Amino acid sequence: MNFLIQRSELRDLWEKASAGERIDEADALRLFESKDLNAVGAIADLVRQRKVGNHASYILNRYVNYSNYCILSCQFCSFARKKRDADGFQLTVEEIAQKAKEALTIGITELHIVGGLHPSLPFSYYTDMLKALKAVDPRVQLKCFTAIEILHLAWLAKKSVEQTLIELKEAGLESLTGGGAEIFRKEVRSQIAKGKESAAEYLDVHRTWHKLGGRSTCTMLFGHVESLADRVDHLRHLRDLQDETHGFVGFVPLAYQPENNEIPVTTPPTGFDALRTIAISRIYLDNFDHITAYWVGLGLKLAQVALNYGADDIHGTIVEEHIFRMAGGKAPQIQAEKDLIKAIRETGRVPVQRNTFYEPIKVLDETNAPDPAGLEKETASV
Ligand code: SF4
Repeated sequence: MNFLIQRSELRDLWEKASAGERIDEADALRLFESKDLNAVGAIADLVRQRKVGNHASYILNRYVNYSNYCILSCQFCSFARKKRDADGFQLTVEEIAQKAKEALTIGITELHIVGGLHPSLPFSYYTDMLKALKAVDPRVQLKCFTAIEILHLAWLAKKSVEQTLIELKEAGLESLTGGGAEIFRKEVRSQIAKGKESAAEYLDVHRTWHKLGGRSTCTMLFGHVESLADRVDHLRHLRDLQDETHGFVGFVPLAYQPENNEIPVTTPPTGFDALRTIAISRIYLDNFDHITAYWVGLGLKLAQVALNYGADDIHGTIVEEHIFRMAGGKAPQIQAEKDLIKAIRETGRVPVQRNTFYEPIKVLDETNAPDPAGLEKETASV
């Protein structure tokens, strides 16, 4: 037992985690209420080490937003636009395929594609998009659509959620994204995302996808109007579904960005709040293999520190990000692979390039480290 824990009020929870016992919701709330961040981090690090050893991963990916037109107006959203807005956009399938071709030159393995709930694009637009991207390169993994987009597409196509997912899968969809979970508790949801799908609907889309053999990630948007108990309640729903389906490959806590929306929060979550949330997620979600520190919301520096607080993944190159940026996110739109590797190496971990399902593509021990100068040149050309 380390020195930090010996003297900590959280010693009993360290012992529980050490014995491989599951913590309950009251334990999770105690962790959230504790000011002993280093002890919380030490417990999370124990769980992380047991899951992944000395590895920490990243992915070469590219984000594409096909459109920001949306029929909903979630109060926290800074991204959505109406047709009357001058800065609304929608891409053609050809334009999306062109972005994919450009990104493939830097070796991406994943396209991450989401958009608003477009008022009029037909269902065939989405299946054509998936097929066109697979035609560009059948090896690129397509991680697309949030649960609310799936519900929208099902409504548009007048099909069940299951049939909609089957047809998207046939067109090339390989993973759902985790976006849109926000905070599950109804009272919070109606304050930040009125009109959006309920917690049950979000979970049911993922459940249906998992039962079809699909895999997905899930998220929690934290640091706005929710209480700490609301966060625990959110994590409980995710742990329960994971017990049932084992279909989530990773959990991505998202730090709320406060600008250009209707929620009366003036500052984003602090570093302390972000680190404890990541750490407690790692401890509580004992049936998840991976916790991602999302540098877009945290900044790469804090995401790097999070590797000592339970995270084992710092996400990817991304290339072009709109959603957090339009909400005031200050992180750059792209990270060079060399910077992700450097951030991981400095923490003493072995960098691992992963695929969409967090499976290793390349383990970067000292003998096969890529040439940093070369990578910088390649990434800058996108
Ligand atoms: S969060 Fe999604 S569903 Fe809600 S307004 Fe924004 S784009 Fe539309």
